[in-house]
Amino acid sequence: MAKKKSVKKRPAPKALSRSTKSSKYVYFFGNGKADGDRTMRELLGGKGANLAEMTNAALPVPAGFTISTAACTIYYKEKRRIPPSIDAEMLTNLRKLEKASGTQFGSNTNPLLVSVRSGSKFSMPGMMDTILNLGLNDETVEALKRRTSNGRFAYDSYRRFMQMFGSVVLEIPKDAFEHEFDTVKRGRGATLDTELDEEALREVVARYKTVVRERAKRDFPQEPREQLTMARDAVFRSWMNPRAQEYRRIYDIPDHIGTAVNVQMMVFGNTGDRSATGVGFTRNPATGAKEFYGEFLINAQGEDVVAGIRTPQPITELEKVLPKAYKQLRDITSRLERNYKDVQDFEFTIQDERLFMLQTRNGKRTGYAAVIIATDFVAERLITPKEAILQIDPESLSQLLAPGFDQKEWKSIPVATRGLPASPGAASGQVVFSAEEAVQWSDAGKPVILVRRETVPDDIRGMFVAQGVLTATGGMTSHAAVVGRQMGKPSIVGASALDVDEDGRRFTVNGHTIKEGDFVSFDGLTGEVKLAKVASKPSEILQVLNRELEPAKSDIYRRFMQILKWSDKHRRMDVRANADQPDQAELAYAFGARGIGLCRTEHMFFGEGRIPIVQRMILADNEKDRRAALAELLPMQRDDFYGVFKAMKGEPVTIRTIDPPLHEFLPKREELMVEIARLEARAHGTDELETKLALLRRVEQLHEFNPMLGHRGVRLGITYPEITEMQTRAILEAACRLAKEGLKVTPEIMIPLVGHVKELRDQKVVVNRVAEQVMKEQGVTVKYLVGTMIEVPRGAMTADEIATEAQFFSFGTNDLTQMTFGFSRDDVGKFLRVYQDKKILDRDPFATFDVDGVGPVLRTGVELGRRTNPDLKIGVCGEHGGDPSSIHFFEKVGLNYVSCSPYRVPVARLAAAQAALAVKVGD
Ligand code: PEP
Ligand code: MG
Repeated sequence: MAKKKSVKKRPAPKALSRSTKSSKYVYFFGNGKADGDRTMRELLGGKGANLAEMTNAALPVPAGFTISTAACTIYYKEKRRIPPSIDAEMLTNLRKLEKASGTQFGSNTNPLLVSVRSGSKFSMPGMMDTILNLGLNDETVEALKRRTSNGRFAYDSYRRFMQMFGSVVLEIPKDAFEHEFDTVKRGRGATLDTELDEEALREVVARYKTVVRERAKRDFPQEPREQLTMARDAVFRSWMNPRAQEYRRIYDIPDHIGTAVNVQMMVFGNTGDRSATGVGFTRNPATGAKEFYGEFLINAQGEDVVAGIRTPQPITELEKVLPKAYKQLRDITSRLERNYKDVQDFEFTIQDERLFMLQTRNGKRTGYAAVIIATDFVAERLITPKEAILQIDPESLSQLLAPGFDQKEWKSIPVATRGLPASPGAASGQVVFSAEEAVQWSDAGKPVILVRRETVPDDIRGMFVAQGVLTATGGMTSHAAVVGRQMGKPSIVGASALDVDEDGRRFTVNGHTIKEGDFVSFDGLTGEVKLAKVASKPSEILQVLNRELEPAKSDIYRRFMQILKWSDKHRRMDVRANADQPDQAELAYAFGARGIGLCRTEHMFFGEGRIPIVQRMILADNEKDRRAALAELLPMQRDDFYGVFKAMKGEPVTIRTIDPPLHEFLPKREELMVEIARLEARAHGTDELETKLALLRRVEQLHEFNPMLGHRGVRLGITYPEITEMQTRAILEAACRLAKEGLKVTPEIMIPLVGHVKELRDQKVVVNRVAEQVMKEQGVTVKYLVGTMIEVPRGAMTADEIATEAQFFSFGTNDLTQMTFGFSRDDVGKFLRVYQDKKILDRDPFATFDVDGVGPVLRTGVELGRRTNPDLKIGVCGEHGGDPSSIHFFEKVGLNYVSCSPYRVPVARLAAAQAALAVKVGD
């Protein structure tokens, strides 16, 4: 029996339920021992957990302590204040640090200097703030000078600290400091920072003090403990800065987890020519090549490497200048890679030839590198195939299928605007504003970008030939997005900053006007749009699948397929594709789809020469004329189905009967009125005018206020059963023909938008009657199934009744999301961004399935359906079928398959394997 459904409330973050007094908030690490370990990422952040782990592993890590994410939660709960008990705990740890390092805060012989850095559970590079050299003041700077016998170094450290502290903690604009720095440089005729001597840097420090006094209305704090408290709070504050929030929104990182603060003894890479600082990877993060990769600077501090002021040297050069430290670094990092079983991204500093490891973590990598590294690791026996599939972000596989830009060139061009990243890939071309022009221009050999306010089904031809599709409105399941993904066409939708004037053939965006023929480029993976021409190159894997390249010649193709093969061993759910054309089906099969989960038959109505017939069918005011038009469509649909069945080589094919409202197949009312006015001005009584007038009358009759809730789906089949008849006939005739040719196919006829069992019953009678008839005529018996989409909430809530009539269910999560939220899937782009900015929604529910709200509706549908029909086959064919985190949920509720656009099939295969390894059905 199905379990009783319970709607779980999200638990409050652990930190919130903790009492301020009884818990530990500060975790020490140093001298080979740490309070924390690698499993404590939630509490200590990735960086803090790692520092603890590295310390425990006896790596040369400068000592320090981590103030936990729980303290961050309290900081926000207490209206941006840290309670005295945590302050006291911090001071205790500070004393411990002084002991471990043999230095002291504020000492004028041997001062302790620390770095203060953020670090949340997930890495958010550069999003939050960091302060280095904290502890310096007018006295300790002199002590530093004496200890290092390097006055220049001491004052350079001091001015860097003041600058960072001033901008991050006191929130003084960076320019104010830079202005003073440049004035001193100019005054001394220096071009490089390094040309400034101690005296010049003293002058910089004096000027910075004035900047602080004037801007912050206080003196620069001289007391190190006060500096530390202020810096800690500033790091907590930076968790909510706009760029960190934006980063979290893009990468789906929740706000409530907070950041930890790491306070760590400073070590210096800028004490002279025997010191250095650098960053590196144990493998190349862009290409995956097995090479020690990174860069360093002699006599520099970490930020110099990142800031790009000086050009760093490749890390291999380090062997020549500081061979001992280099060897130690290589040994340590190789050991780390073996320990963590993953590529390490590390930061190090060498102070007077002594190596310190500042950080190591699993390195971020491109999708391409992820595949190379995982397969190499298996070959090197570092990991098993199962570990390899868990190591790759499924989403990153789609990067390997999309055309790409040269990243250097792409990054050098400013972003004009951003939209929703609907379908990945690099697109560059000349702007056109209609499908017809897209076809004409591309026939003339020009690459085009189709720019529309929104796309309509009739635009398909234009979308097909375009390099990419860009719309100003629409959400992730709007027409352009769905079709774009299915075609593998780079697409951005809902770029609301675009003001598109289709008649004037131009659009404006942030003060720029782009006319027809101007070049525009965009990246469908990030949503960035740029006003320039940028070269792109096609995916190697697609070249192999399109037989333009031999598999033997493509290393990446073989590795990609290997990962998918390993995935197939571990997944429980089947993966099917949404495809309407034989070529799409063929590609889906090549990507590993074993079946079609959704064939949208109406897309076939837009094929060459079909629209006039479809329109005749719609214009018919009696059944006889309608049947005549349908009879003309029959052979065309039959051939389509034949092609799709054949491409799927006997795998199941689900064909959905007509779904959209009929007016979508007719011209727009406004366009017709303009044409009629033009014809009327020219002549009277022409045939063309009569036809247009008839069309206009029908368009007006078919007009609906809410077409998405109107005369569509099963409602069309019920009012015009002859459409269902024709489609059933086309499906069965194609299947019979293939049966005669020796290919066994099992068509699955799917009725859309069913909310009441009687709707399905009505259509089933029609389907069964026609199917029997065709099989009799053909003298062949073909097994076929009749099922329904569950995409209306009522359908899910009465699934037990519907399941008595259905042999399968397919959840249409696009409509189910639309109807459960009451958000129009085509208009959501207008307000979604605001919802996300205001944290009303973390994610776009049309891209990532809403487990909390739509989830219970779907779960109910599954449980009720299986209650009356235990053999019911259940899948999902909404866009969520190709989304990894949604796939996790579908695994949990025990669906039999997911279906997604052909290009998402590899992503779904890997995600389904990961889901099967991570969650159990019924969890
Ligand atoms: C759905 O609603 O999820 C679905 C697959 O159907 P369509 O997108 O064609 O409405
Ligand atoms: Mg639907």
